[in-house]
Amino acid sequence: AEQEALIARLLAAGLGPSNAGGDDVRNLMLSPSAGIDPQMLFDTRPLAAQILATLENHPRFHELSAKFAVQLDGGEDLAMLEHHHDLWLSAFVRHGETLLAFGLAGCPGLDAPLAAVPLGQGLELVVAVLETFLDLATPEQMRMRHLPVDNVLSHLRLPLLPADGFTRPPSDASLQVGTYPQVQKNQFYVAALAPLGRLDPTMLKGAAQLASDYGDGTLRFTPWQGVLVPNVEKPHAVTERLAQLGFICSLGHPLARMIACTGSSGCAKGLADTKADAVQLAALQSGVEVHLSGCPRSCAAAHTAPVTLLAVSPGHYDLYFRDAAQPGFGRLHARTLSIEAAGALLRARPRSNTDD
Ligand code: SF4
Repeated sequence: AEQEALIARLLAAGLGPSNAGGDDVRNLMLSPSAGIDPQMLFDTRPLAAQILATLENHPRFHELSAKFAVQLDGGEDLAMLEHHHDLWLSAFVRHGETLLAFGLAGCPGLDAPLAAVPLGQGLELVVAVLETFLDLATPEQMRMRHLPVDNVLSHLRLPLLPADGFTRPPSDASLQVGTYPQVQKNQFYVAALAPLGRLDPTMLKGAAQLASDYGDGTLRFTPWQGVLVPNVEKPHAVTERLAQLGFICSLGHPLARMIACTGSSGCAKGLADTKADAVQLAALQSGVEVHLSGCPRSCAAAHTAPVTLLAVSPGHYDLYFRDAAQPGFGRLHARTLSIEAAGALLRARPRSNTDD
């Protein structure tokens, strides 16, 4: 009964699906600064609402895998561009017209688009791609990467334009923390990180209170395990209070660049207590983004971090450096390091080498 009451309250707050069958398929990623980012080429929210409604209300789409994911990128400066999606759409302007370039089984930050459609056909494109996927995929083929791209493209019943001229400027990762002006005059957004992705009820209630007191009552979550309070006129007060609540409000914070999965304290697959080890490592080194993963599933990061520590036993990790030529976590650099040894190695390593 307790669960039912909780579910009812979440649904009443608009945090659930409009029907139970549509719950798993609502995987649509937008920029956390959608509709407020000064660099955006269009406000993605109305189209996103249409895509979500279609995913939820079109029963055939409930057959999609719960991991099937779509990204809609409006060209915002603050955006996660390296998470792979089954379908991605990204805005660009050609001859004064805003178009949506798109690609399959990839992401706008790393992959070239296949083609484009006018902005007004964004919803039609999503529907056509998903229906084509379901027409062609066998039950074993759950994700777009399991199908040949040419096959999907040749079956799309939609006129396509070339994506010539598409470029996606890199997103500015520093914007995930701090105060930034919005496209709306005299309005700011304040972004902060939850340390190692953990929010307790006091932090969440406090952030919600800030959104009511200083913003428009809305709170956004970011792909960097943080929150964003939009539409604020007095950002200093918000930042101060977020810091008091335990949020990371500056990239100089030792935990700002640490990512850790649940680890052995909460996951049976975890070979080490990644979150506690991350706290220990943060005290030993700073400046490099490090991802501690309790096992190869990499739940905490869909992208490859510059440095990955993969647990092998309690307190011990294999160390990988990101390497575009190697799949997965990158190049294996050292095995079975203690946190002290990993910290010493990262401290001694020139910064320029960690991103090769
Ligand atoms: S990466 Fe492995 S250990 Fe960490 S939360 Fe996922 S399954 Fe558990």
